[in-house]
Amino acid sequence: MKKNYRFSTKCVQSGWKPENGDPRVLPIYQSTTFKYDSTGHVGDLFDLKVPGHMYTRISNPTFEAVENKISDLEGGVGAMLTSSGQSAVLALTMNLCEAGQNFLCSSEIYGGTINLMSAEFSRMGIEVRYFEPKAGVGEAEKLIDENTRFIFGETLANPALTVFDISAYAELAHRHRIPLCIDNTFATPYLCRPFEFGADFVIHSVTKYMDGHASIVGGVLVDGGRFGFTKEKFPQFTEPCESYHGLCFATAFAPAGFIARARCMVMRDLGMTPAPMNAFLLNLGLETLALRMERHCENAMKVARFLESQPKDKVAWVRYPGLASSPDFELAKKYLKNEKGEFIGASGVISFGAAGGRQGAARVMDALKLAAIVVHVADARTCVMHPASGTHRQLSDEQLVRCGVNPEMIRLSCGIENADDIIEDLKQAL
Ligand SMILES: *Cc1c(COP(=O)(O)O)cnc(C)c1O
Repeated sequence: MKKNYRFSTKCVQSGWKPENGDPRVLPIYQSTTFKYDSTGHVGDLFDLKVPGHMYTRISNPTFEAVENKISDLEGGVGAMLTSSGQSAVLALTMNLCEAGQNFLCSSEIYGGTINLMSAEFSRMGIEVRYFEPKAGVGEAEKLIDENTRFIFGETLANPALTVFDISAYAELAHRHRIPLCIDNTFATPYLCRPFEFGADFVIHSVTKYMDGHASIVGGVLVDGGRFGFTKEKFPQFTEPCESYHGLCFATAFAPAGFIARARCMVMRDLGMTPAPMNAFLLNLGLETLALRMERHCENAMKVARFLESQPKDKVAWVRYPGLASSPDFELAKKYLKNEKGEFIGASGVISFGAAGGRQGAARVMDALKLAAIVVHVADARTCVMHPASGTHRQLSDEQLVRCGVNPEMIRLSCGIENADDIIEDLKQAL
């Protein structure tokens, strides 16, 4: 009987299950291909009649172990690693949508995802319809029509740091017989498991907390296993697939038809494959996910309270959903909890406004000694970014305010160092 371990035990123990005499640590299967004794066996693999690995573009034992761990952490029925978070969103969309169809997307999401959706998907004939999550499900519902195929939002939005009301949008999606898909990157399954709130499919940029050490770029797609595909909206799951002699993904692989099709069709054809070495490093990072997330939350709570206590001529404002003063505090308490069910913070990222506008922010950043200026967030080392002089530097101050990035905004990603050192660094810089 399989024992259902607690979250931090799963971080260490799930996935790789060595047999008698096998290596204790997950091996890196650095091989493009796998050897079989007969053409008949290879034929059965191609027909998906028997499980096994054929070619690393599609699957690999190192990936498989890490996929099983992540699926276990999220409470899903299967997962598929991808080469980046961007390609996880691509795989998700290609699995659910085709030209002439559309999907709904929260306006509060990661800028890279907006680029992918607005620039690339529109060229493929897939339309993205943005809704303001805080305007309520009624407003989003007006955008749904017979060609809408899914709803997309981020548990904890990067960089807006708002919390998405997963249950409310899951109910809306299911009323229209479409799935709710969640980017759970900033929360990680340690703080939130979207399937428990009705979400159907989850993606991550594992580049952030899941690896946690800023050493790999990667993504993952996770199948919650409960979405009921209908013939009217999703024939690619319910009808016979010519590529595999008339097999139907939804029935042949139930309840993991979504992830089976993602692998056998989307990954096979588009090839957004990770490297075995990266899957190994990801697994190493995941072993400490629970420990690290606890410290990220603890540090961010302390730093956010420190920033909030500063006079307005130093810190103009602070945004962190873990603060009781945050408009998102109630949602944060509902969705973000540790493995004991307690609210300990809203992950490690804070944004705040430095006094003195764009120049003030640049002066504070340049004076920081411990917190490094990097284009990254959500790893073990405290780091800062100034969107107005980096990712959003083409925009005027007016345009910046309109897209929710004030010129004085600093995005601070609290690492797992001693919180007092992070606070002292900020104090001297301010
Ligand atoms: C970084 C990020 C992505 C994109 O992931 P990459 O691994 O950089 O391709 C997607 N979603 C969120 C929330 C992110 O923070």
